[in-house]
Amino acid sequence: MADQLIRATAAEDGIRAVGVITTRLTEEARQKHGLSYVATAALGRSMSSGLLLASGLKKEGSRVNIRIKGNGPLGGLLVDAGLDGTVRGYVQNPDVELPPNAQGKLDVGTAVGDQGYLYVVKDMGYGYPYSSTVELVSGEVGEDVAHYLVNSEQTPSALLVGVFVGAQGVSASGGILLQVMPKASRDEALVTLLESRVTQLASFTNLLREGKTLPEMLQSILGDLGLVIFPEVQLVRFNCGCSFERVLGALKMLGLAELQDMIKQDKGAEATCQFCSQVYRANEDHLEKLILDLKTESREKSPML
Ligand code: ZN
Repeated sequence: MADQLIRATAAEDGIRAVGVITTRLTEEARQKHGLSYVATAALGRSMSSGLLLASGLKKEGSRVNIRIKGNGPLGGLLVDAGLDGTVRGYVQNPDVELPPNAQGKLDVGTAVGDQGYLYVVKDMGYGYPYSSTVELVSGEVGEDVAHYLVNSEQTPSALLVGVFVGAQGVSASGGILLQVMPKASRDEALVTLLESRVTQLASFTNLLREGKTLPEMLQSILGDLGLVIFPEVQLVRFNCGCSFERVLGALKMLGLAELQDMIKQDKGAEATCQFCSQVYRANEDHLEKLILDLKTESREKSPML
């Protein structure tokens, strides 16, 4: 099944449900960044979380950034996800590997660390981003993002994310988010209903591993609650907006002296995009052109006396 996101409601529009499959994009991130197993799981879970959070935004162009800074060996992690279904992200130390935890699972909690912070920045398209920080609960990502939703957004929510990765790469990755609708957030009966779904929700990772489709998974978790799945299927993908032009723009901002120094010392410049590990190389000609541009611009700005 292609990477995708679907939306649904249950309990007569009282509960909003979103499911996302991110198997291919997590594999793409693994290959681009050379991620270890545990780093793949941490980043995959975070990218699913980012897409799930972004799915709740309204205005075109809206994005969510999730930054996790824990005390574990992974260092830090950043994900940038959009309402348009694009996502990108990286971890600070991609080659950290750890033995499985007591449950025999990839030990994301230890890799991320259980001391630290989760930062969420939402750019909702109005020019002023909304940001919020919560302390980490476990470093397992899913629990931490759920904690953020309950504490910062005060929306009764349940979120589960999972990644299965082995020697053949990523075999399954995805997530599911259940929320009591904002207008009904004080409806105690709905909150209790949501909480009662925890057991069914826990089966999500098994359903994911079995290769079930999103509608099948939602049916299994919410089928008895008047589930209505919206017909629109949104495709999601790993996408980074970086380009050679942007790199040249950044180099230009370093200024004349620095550029001349780069030509003299290194006969060019090299830049790596943190988000997608793409390497860009500017040669002497590129740098000479930037110097010429800068000189022309400064002449235009200061008319001759
Ligand atoms: Zn990039």
